[in-house]
Amino acid sequence: MKRATTVGELGEQPLDDATGAPAASAAVPAPSLARNLLGWFDSWAVQIDPTVDQRAPDWSRVVPFAILHLSCLLVIWVGWSPVAVAVAVGFYLVRMFAITGFYHRYFSHRAFKTSRPVQFVFACIGGMAVQRGPLWWASHHRDHHRYSDEERDVHSPVQNSFYWSHVGWIVCRENYHTKIDNIRDFARFPELRFLDRFDVLVPLLTLAGMLGLGWALEVFAPSLGTNAMQMGVWGFSISTVVLYHGTFSINSLAHRIGKRVFPTADDSRNNFLLSLITLGEGWHNNHHHYQSSARQGFRWWEIDITYYGLCLLERIGLVSDLRPVPARVATERISDPDAPGARFDKSAVTRGRAAR
Ligand SMILES: [Zn+2]
Ligand SMILES: [Zn+2]
Repeated sequence: MKRATTVGELGEQPLDDATGAPAASAAVPAPSLARNLLGWFDSWAVQIDPTVDQRAPDWSRVVPFAILHLSCLLVIWVGWSPVAVAVAVGFYLVRMFAITGFYHRYFSHRAFKTSRPVQFVFACIGGMAVQRGPLWWASHHRDHHRYSDEERDVHSPVQNSFYWSHVGWIVCRENYHTKIDNIRDFARFPELRFLDRFDVLVPLLTLAGMLGLGWALEVFAPSLGTNAMQMGVWGFSISTVVLYHGTFSINSLAHRIGKRVFPTADDSRNNFLLSLITLGEGWHNNHHHYQSSARQGFRWWEIDITYYGLCLLERIGLVSDLRPVPARVATERISDPDAPGARFDKSAVTRGRAAR
């Protein structure tokens, strides 16, 4: 149930009764420049102008995204050091795990259980990846499974261009707001709504922390040969941009390049290289076939580092009840997945819609 209410003196903004977040389908009046600038800090203050093309790039989103990419070029001036590169790699892995293990397998698919504090900590670590809050991320991802490679899929490379599936869908107006109706189970937590609303806060603190780390190492461990700017470029800019495109490759490449093992109704693929880059998400055809499992590499040789990490967290008591792959799933493989009719054969699908 939704009601039309206001956000302070900012103007009319239909809000959701249960969460206080802007309603995704809200029809709103034209936004002001002040509101769009405020929206960099308070995502709920943003109003989408219904009179403009909703799929066109939203420049207030494209500019910071482009600046982050361009800041990688500062490496020409700041150079490199072993410690800066090591921090970049390590921070990539930690954040990729938070995205794949928690933004994806936990918040989107509820593939295991955890406590509220652990849920919050990994929501924050995922926020460091600058891919917005967990509610926004998971609410759109659930639609991806609901409408996989159909017209309403938010980032299908089958329905749209490679550019759209990779990055276009993120920087347009159409997908700006969190789809609260898709994520009510987690939207009831005020701390998660806070991260969703002020989704730039964690990234800014992350950048400040990385600059501070570089400064501290320059002062207290000068033999390491790094400094604030170098750590900012490697630990934040380069690491984050590579993390972006690793994550985005699942939406674009993993629906285009790879092997189909299961006759899902979409065009998802299993791709070994992508599974290494994304710590296990490259087994995307497996995942579309049975999406509620904590494990995406179904066979022993399908390397799934996120799953191994989740098993470790389970061993030390931070998570529990990892949902397994049912034995029947292993017998549902099709012998010739690229045979005519194997793809998009609606009569032979096993979409698992109810299994999220
Ligand atoms: Zn997919
Ligand atoms: Zn998924």
